[in-house]
Order: sequence, then structure tokens, then C-alpha cells
Amino acid sequence: MSTIRVGHLYPDYLNIYADRGNIAVLARRAAWRGHTLEVTPLGMDDPIVPGAHDLYYIGGGQDREQLLVAANLAAKAEPLREAVERGAAVLAVCGGYQLLGRGYRGFHGQDMPGAGLLPLETVAGERRMIGDVLLECELEPGERRTLAGFENHAGRTRLDPGAEPLGRVLAGFGNDGESGFEGCRAGRVIGTYLHGPLLPRNPWLADWLLAQALAHRTGGDPPRLAPLADELEARAHEVAAARARSRGGRF
Ligand code: GLN
Repeated sequence: MSTIRVGHLYPDYLNIYADRGNIAVLARRAAWRGHTLEVTPLGMDDPIVPGAHDLYYIGGGQDREQLLVAANLAAKAEPLREAVERGAAVLAVCGGYQLLGRGYRGFHGQDMPGAGLLPLETVAGERRMIGDVLLECELEPGERRTLAGFENHAGRTRLDPGAEPLGRVLAGFGNDGESGFEGCRAGRVIGTYLHGPLLPRNPWLADWLLAQALAHRTGGDPPRLAPLADELEARAHEVAAARARSRGGRF
């Protein structure tokens, strides 16, 4: 039994499409395995203390909210990088994902600094990319899984050459509507455009994140978590996946 310590970055600013629901899923799935999730909001005035949290979470937001937090987050880039180097996991969604790259130029041309944790840059385009998305991911060699979610972003995210995407787009736009890739993964750091929220219909990713966080907590390898029934979750996934497929495969 462990207490998994989550640092929730800017919960008052970055929480659209019920992104906060991701935390609820992590908390329940941890509790069902006998672990406790301890969630600490990390706002503007709170420092990031490497080693203090096993998992960092940052949600999505409009350009307006991103502008309010971008410089504050960029100023905390060093401790955040150190936390990750020590093995903390990160889940970043949409606006939060964009701000983990080197920077984001918003729809009105506002240049926002990023934390530089992920090898990517984002520039807003004219047309918003909106709709259901389906991805194929392979976070662990040989374990192919799908992720279903909803995207709504003007930002086009370009990964640096050699950067690892989170997944391949089966239906939807993904990072930029062109590359066929969605999100970015660097070790235990995951960035994605998928809202919905993401985790209720993709419980395997919630468990992957919990396992990484537990590995940080205990200093060992990511544990195999006991499987859960997940029938409702599987149905939710299927509904979302079918909606995305009915958009037609873009890639
Ligand atoms: N404001 C960003 C964009 O439009 C992110 C939006 C979001 O988090 N949904 O690209």
C-alpha cells in the first residue's frame, strides 16, 4: 500500500472539458488496488520540489488561461526537469501539453514560453481541429493499445526529428493534421491533445501512469497492477472509438 503523491499544476486555470476527471479516475483506480492518491494543487505561488510528487498533472485551457500561467511554468522548468529526471511521471493535456514544449504561439500571435520538457513546438493555425480521435499506441514493446478521446485545438504541434509521438492517428487530426502522429512521449512524460476526459474511457493509460508513479514512489520497477473488471470503461471506449471511426480515417 502506497500513498501516490500527485502535483496538480494550475487546477484553477487549466481545466476544460472536465480534464479534472482524469484525477478522479486515478484516485479510484489507485484505491481499488489499496493505494491512496494524495493530490496537491500547485498554483502560481507554489514551488515544484523535485522528489515531492510521483506524478504531475496539467490540464487543458484556452489561450487566455495559458497566457496567464505560461511564464510562471517556464520559470519552474528546472525543478520540473529535475523531478522528471528523478523518475516522476507527467500527464499533460492539450493546453498543458503545448506548454511542456519549447513554446506556443497563440491564435492572436501571443508568444508563450514553454517548460521545454518535451521536444516540440506549437503554433496556432486558422482552423480549429475538433472532433473525436482514435490512436494506436505502443508504450511498452509489443503491447499495442488504442486511445479514444476528443480534440479541440488551434495549435499545430510539431515534434522534433526523432521525438517519440504518443500514438499513430487512426482517425482525427492529432498533433498537426498532417504528420499522422498524436501527442508526445518522453520516458514517463506523456503529452496529448485528448480530452473527454482522457482516462475514464482509456483505463489502461491510467494504470500505466499509476504504475510509473508507484515506481517513483518505491524506487523499483513499475508494478503490474491487479486487473479490474472495466466493463463500463470498455463500453465507453468502444462508443468513443466508433464515433472517431465514423469521421473516417484521415491517415
Ligand atoms: N488554446 C489551445 C489551442 O487552441 C489549447 C486548447 C485546449 O486546451 N483545448 O490550441
